[in-house]
Amino acid sequence: MQPRDELGRVVANLQALPSQNMHAQRRFSGRSLVQFYRHGSLSIDTPDDLSPGEENICRDQLVLLENRATEAARDIPQGPPSQREEGRMRHSVSWQESPVPPDRLAQVLRDWYARNRRLLPWRASPGTLQDPYIVWISETMLQQTSVATTIPYFERFIAAFPTVRALAQASLEEVLCLWQGLGYYARARRLLQTAQILESQGGHFPTTLQDLLKLPGIGRYTATAIASMAFGEPVLARDTNVTRLVLRLFSLTDPTCIEAQVSPLLHPHPGDTNQAFMDIGALYCRAHRASCPACPLSPFCRTSQENAGEILFAAPPKEQKPTRYATFFHISAEGCLLLEQRPPQGLLGGLYGLPTTAWDSEQEQAVVFPEALRLIPQWQESAQFSHTFTHFRLHVHVLQAQLPRCVPFACPSWIWVPYAQLAHYALPTLFRKALRG
Ligand code: SF4
Repeated sequence: MQPRDELGRVVANLQALPSQNMHAQRRFSGRSLVQFYRHGSLSIDTPDDLSPGEENICRDQLVLLENRATEAARDIPQGPPSQREEGRMRHSVSWQESPVPPDRLAQVLRDWYARNRRLLPWRASPGTLQDPYIVWISETMLQQTSVATTIPYFERFIAAFPTVRALAQASLEEVLCLWQGLGYYARARRLLQTAQILESQGGHFPTTLQDLLKLPGIGRYTATAIASMAFGEPVLARDTNVTRLVLRLFSLTDPTCIEAQVSPLLHPHPGDTNQAFMDIGALYCRAHRASCPACPLSPFCRTSQENAGEILFAAPPKEQKPTRYATFFHISAEGCLLLEQRPPQGLLGGLYGLPTTAWDSEQEQAVVFPEALRLIPQWQESAQFSHTFTHFRLHVHVLQAQLPRCVPFACPSWIWVPYAQLAHYALPTLFRKALRG
């Protein structure tokens, strides 16, 4: 088979991956085959918000496909590359080849951070170590939302649980209540479990990356952030933004080269260097627009040297998520609302919501009422809306009924809650939308 045909087959295989790999398809689809021929690698990262099972499947399939694609690309005859392509084809640029001494670039990063860093409530002064608990909570929250959204959540959370011990002694309901609206509730549950483990071991964080990684619920990114910012270990805290920035800074195409390339920059304050990368990535080196003329790294940046002015990067095509359909039951009586506590495992596990039909229907169909609700004579449709999860879109119909009194239902997970006390229940955004009507 011709190498180009083999590549075509690889692309077709990627496009046929099952729905749990929508992330992989989306990431791949941003890269054209032409780009691939030039770079010699697909350089696909798996996303960090998949469950461990999904992540393994996703990574295995991508590694397999990328290896096949790389082999096929090797056999494609190519003419001599242009000077610009030659620069881009490199997988790594050693410091010996670079005209910039690493200690100078490291100094620029530290100086920039000392004067221009974003002032955020979880940060310590430049040159000092942070509290590992504060790094852990803030970085976990930042993995799922923006800095601006995180700030009030972080402040409320730390006010309620200022230490590992306070968090370990909290109930799941208290933690979920402060997490409601942030999404990815499994992370909140894991925070609580990990705090309980830490507390059972004396309440102290392990001080090395290797030992932090042994804690359940602390992934590699969070562990590197804690190790560098709280314990001064020279490791790169590499999320998507930092990966993007470093690839552009050194004009690399292979993310596996990043750690080696950046390691000389991390001394003597790795936490500051990591946070400088985070800030510059967020402020200047954004996904679709690099504001090179304003960026403090532009005198050192190979991508900036190859381009003049701002650089625009094409956005990958929007991911098509499957749609599922559900009906929620909004039932009130005597100033109370009927809530259901969801099963502890699974999506939105342990949180409260309205009683609902199953969320597995891929087509709109006649409502199947739960047995306990079949005798309610009158329903009114009060709302229709869509809510987007990581892997699918849920289209919701809300049916409303008013009962004369709070009748007991034979469902142990259903409770009547006075409207005035709703704030004390962890009710995710999805159900708050339904109540707004
Ligand atoms: S100079 Fe441009 S491409 Fe380079 S790191 Fe800064 S914003 Fe990114």
